[in-house]
Amino acid sequence: MLKILPQAALLLLALMSPVVAAPLVAVDVGHGLIDGGAISARGRNEFAFNRQFAAVLATALEQRRIAVRRINFAGTIGSLRERPQQAAGSDFFLSVHHDSVSTDWLQFWDWDGSEASYTEVKRGFGLFVSAQNPDLATSLRCASAIGAVLRRNGFTPSPWHGRKHLPADGENGVWYYDNLVVLYRTTLPAVLFEAGVIKQRDEELELLDPERQARMADAVATGIAACLFVTGKSARD
Ligand SMILES: [Zn+2]
Repeated sequence: MLKILPQAALLLLALMSPVVAAPLVAVDVGHGLIDGGAISARGRNEFAFNRQFAAVLATALEQRRIAVRRINFAGTIGSLRERPQQAAGSDFFLSVHHDSVSTDWLQFWDWDGSEASYTEVKRGFGLFVSAQNPDLATSLRCASAIGAVLRRNGFTPSPWHGRKHLPADGENGVWYYDNLVVLYRTTLPAVLFEAGVIKQRDEELELLDPERQARMADAVATGIAACLFVTGKSARD
C-alpha cells in the first residue's frame, strides 16, 4: 500500500492537474474627465458613476481569482480606439457605462436650486454586443450569462432598448449595437454594460448605494466567471 502524507498527496495532485491560466478581464471605465458622458437627474456626470462601479467590479472579479486590467480608471485615455488596444492580450473586454434617455423623454425639476432634467419612462440595465466583433459567440455567451445572473439577483433589464436595437437575448437584456468602436475594433470578445439609467431619479439613488453596487458587481463578476471558465473548446482542439 502506498502511503503518502496528506500535504504530499495534495502537492502530487496539483502537479498532475493541467495548468489552467486564470482569465484576464479588461474593465474599461466609459467616458473620461473631459467627456463626462450623460448627466444624472441630480447633476452628477456618468464618468463618476462608471468609475465608481468599475472599481467595485474589479475587486469582485479579483475575489474570484480573475485577473483585471484596469482601463481608463484615471479618465485620461486619449481615444475610443485606445481602449480595446490597451485591452489586447486579455480574454474579455467589458466597458462600463450608465444610461440616459433621448431629449424627447426628458422632464424638468428643480434640483438644488437649479433646473435639472430627468425621465420617468426608462430604467434598468442593458448589455450590448456587436455583430462585427470577431468573437461574437463568446461576446454573446458572456453577455447572456451576465444578464441572467443579474436577473436572478433581482435586477431588471430595460426593455426600452428594443426601440432602437435588435435583441440578441432580449429576455436577459442583451442587444445588438454593431457600430460601437469599443465593441468591434478589437480582437477580444467584448460587451458594453449599461448599469442603469441615471436620469431616472429613483434608479439614480439606487445606483449610488454602495451595498447595491456590491451586489450588482458580484452578479456581473459571477456571470463573467461562468462564461470564461467554460471555454467551448475540448482539450483536443
Ligand atoms: Zn456612456
